Amino acid sequence: MNTIKQEKYNSLLRAADKAKENSYSPYSDFKVGATILTKDGKRIDGCNVENAAYGSTMCAERAAIYKAVSLGYKPGDFEAIAIVSSGKNFSPCGACRQTIAEYEFKQSKNIEVFFTGETGNIVKANSLKDLLPFAFDNSLL
Ligand SMILES: [Zn+2]
Repeated sequence: MNTIKQEKYNSLLRAADKAKENSYSPYSDFKVGATILTKDGKRIDGCNVENAAYGSTMCAERAAIYKAVSLGYKPGDFEAIAIVSSGKNFSPCGACRQTIAEYEFKQSKNIEVFFTGETGNIVKANSLKDLLPFAFDNSLL
């Protein structure tokens, strides 16, 4: 990865790390932040939000995506997402992978995904297909 691109994604990871601090996670104390980079260069943050009714909890990645969509972004607008957690290691859950896949499948460009925990080992996937092979895709029906 060239230096300019590397700095762009390091900056995205720093934004996700900052978004993590807004996490509402009184039950697990597991904080997660996510930042989406849009095609027009905007960054949209999300954090995990827990609830006493655990099923009502929302992950940081989906919070960021739903926020982006609420702001008017659509498939075709998503370039990358960085996710940072307070755990030692981290990997996005299946629901978030499927949600990100929805936007990758409906645009012509892959969405790059970066994620890390406190160990600082950054995992980079160039496409959701690497993270969720055989994802549900209704265009195949
Ligand atoms: Zn998730």
